[in-house]
Amino acid sequence: MNRDTSSMLFREASRLMPGGVNSPVRSGRAVKTDPLFIKKAAGCRIIDEDGNSYIDYVGSWGPLILGHSHPGVVAAIKEAADRGTSYGIPTRVEVEMARKVVEMVPSIEMVRMVNSGTEATMSAIRLARGYTGRKKIVKFNGCYHGHGDALLVKSGSGVITFGIPGTPGIPEEATAHTVSLPYNDLGAVRQLMEKAGGEVAAIIVEPVAANMGVVLPAPGFLEGLRKICSDAGALLIFDEVITGFRLAPGGAQQYFNIMPDLTCLGKIIGGGLPVGAYGGKKEIMERVSPAGDVYQAGTLSGNPLAMSAGLAMLNALCEEGIHEEIAKKNTYLCNGFEEASRAAGVAVTINKIGSLGCGFFTKDPVTDYESAVKADAAAYAVFFQEMLDRGVYLAPSQFEAFFVSTAHGKDDLDRTIEAAFASLGIVRQKSAPSS
Ligand SMILES: *Cc1c(COP(=O)(O)O)cnc(C)c1O
Repeated sequence: MNRDTSSMLFREASRLMPGGVNSPVRSGRAVKTDPLFIKKAAGCRIIDEDGNSYIDYVGSWGPLILGHSHPGVVAAIKEAADRGTSYGIPTRVEVEMARKVVEMVPSIEMVRMVNSGTEATMSAIRLARGYTGRKKIVKFNGCYHGHGDALLVKSGSGVITFGIPGTPGIPEEATAHTVSLPYNDLGAVRQLMEKAGGEVAAIIVEPVAANMGVVLPAPGFLEGLRKICSDAGALLIFDEVITGFRLAPGGAQQYFNIMPDLTCLGKIIGGGLPVGAYGGKKEIMERVSPAGDVYQAGTLSGNPLAMSAGLAMLNALCEEGIHEEIAKKNTYLCNGFEEASRAAGVAVTINKIGSLGCGFFTKDPVTDYESAVKADAAAYAVFFQEMLDRGVYLAPSQFEAFFVSTAHGKDDLDRTIEAAFASLGIVRQKSAPSS
């Protein structure tokens, strides 16, 4: 497969942009492959600048649960663009969008739009601190909550992909009030809360961790966090930037029936345009400026193009049975991967839920950051390259999820499974003898 044009563009990009990209994991470093440069996309397929077509399981890292160029979303953007791109003055579509989010997400009574997931988590943390008058934040190792200073501690996504221990440019004062604990370890949370519960403003968690591969919450983990927070007067924040609108119309909180105090949203909510949001109980949200005293603002927040795209997306996701249908496709795909790994004799642990999945190259269960990083990232790199050559685009990192969309047909899934049989055979050949 010829990817010369992409490689040429990447060389040029690397002269002009740090690492040749606008976000680290895209660079392909972890899988030793130059990134594709994409010309266009439709349904589950992306087409690169060399004209190659791939079945895409990244979906822009989560937003495109209805596939690329969904006609309803594209039409909504075009129609909105004809009426102007931004006013900085309220619009009807913001009201419709807020109403939709409040209808769909069970714990949200009031919502504020922002422009990214990072902004949503940063703002939710500020609000939690303002509301409780406390400073400490508890997060979990391997959970990624965007790149805000206070939350970039033992983080997932690019931070785990590149093995970055911490990042220069964040003064230790900025993370002094952040505590990061092992995911799924309620004992560690209880221990901390016994000592310092009165100082904790919030516990923030990905209800399904999807930035260290995919790690499911152990039975009782989320319930336990809910109770601990209520007992300590701390807020429980669900970072549903990935799980929101994906696990169920109302996200992970609806799927597990556990209600956080605040919810962060991103990715799907913008239909592929830059949108984030945070919301929750009215009593808490009314502390946000100008209703309250916790300041947070945005020139382009609630942008009419972005709101129109997001609203079209959310309306489409309210259609009966969509989430069940995608989950079924994912089960079919994961069963295929499991068969392929058995046939090749390559140990792969597959974690999956709804339309999210991850195959870790390890024989052991993956339940937290510590077990995730034991996966063989070099074996994954070979798998990635072989799948790419067979027309399947996976995330260019062992520590990212694959995303199934409504646009993946049975043919696409079958082709993917077929490619996995061949690719895992090659992983087996290239890996050192196991005994
Ligand atoms: C992607 C992600 C973010 C950050 O969102 P951006 O839009 O990239 O800033 C935050 N939290 C989670 C769980 C995410 O997956």
